[in-house]
Amino acid sequence: MKVVNSLDELKAALLSLEPVIGLVPTMGYLHEGHLSLIRRAKDEGKSTVVSIFVNPTQFGPNEDLSKYPRDLERDLSLIRSLGVDLVWTPTPEIMYPQGYQTWVEVDALTKRLEGAMRPGHFKGVTTVVAKLFNAVQPQRAYFGQKDAQQAAVIRQMTKDLNFPIEVIVCPTVRETDGLAMSSRNKYLEGDNRRAATVLFRALSVAKDTYNKGERNAEKLRTIMKDSLASEPRAQMQYVSCADYDTLGELDVIKGKTLLSMAVLFGKTRLIDNFVLE
Ligand code: AMP
Repeated sequence: MKVVNSLDELKAALLSLEPVIGLVPTMGYLHEGHLSLIRRAKDEGKSTVVSIFVNPTQFGPNEDLSKYPRDLERDLSLIRSLGVDLVWTPTPEIMYPQGYQTWVEVDALTKRLEGAMRPGHFKGVTTVVAKLFNAVQPQRAYFGQKDAQQAAVIRQMTKDLNFPIEVIVCPTVRETDGLAMSSRNKYLEGDNRRAATVLFRALSVAKDTYNKGERNAEKLRTIMKDSLASEPRAQMQYVSCADYDTLGELDVIKGKTLLSMAVLFGKTRLIDNFVLE
């Protein structure tokens, strides 16, 4: 397994990789969710590239960039055990050198949900992913359903900018009690960790209600809100029952639908979602 930093080293290392190349972009501090993406890329392609880059441009001024958890040695040993060909670990100076001034932005899709709560977040995400796509030139790229809006925004960007890349979205990996795995779960301690299972419970109750025939979206939003309200440590930011592709809030559920939410536990912000097919 090669580990490279600079764009020149990356270019040289890519010469020895056989297509199909699968890229798994990450911010490191890897868990089973990331590893499931890497395994899928390994299974489906000939060569696998993992990027590890905590992208400063997707963090707001009051977000946790400096505190974002990092452990490169541990990440590399996990990735090595999966048989990955190449790991790219650029620095912020490599990605955004002095004088950097070009941005990629997806419009309507990024105005809702996470985009409404975190102004500028998706501009940072789409810019860095476009740069990763251009530098690695993979045939496939793997993302997690855990970040549902991110996946939708990247699918849109890939289509709109004609990237010749297949975007593959993989299922959310959860802890045994239902909590979606996330690098940020590290910040949850004691009572907050126990309380955080309320996201999974709220989504589950709404999905059960849908499975019993309920198609009124507002009813499902209310069920999720009530369920979150039963946990005093959970501070709801939003709940949503939206069209899977446009992310527009629904009145009546017809096609593929995304139930999603963002909830604060102290300073730790968690997101989760279920898809209704
Ligand atoms: P991150 O390092 O948080 O930027 O995540 C890198 C990739 O892993 C993104 O495509 C995430 O959606 C995906 N991911 C994060 N958590 C999970 C999870 N629990 N299950 C599946 N994929 C995940």
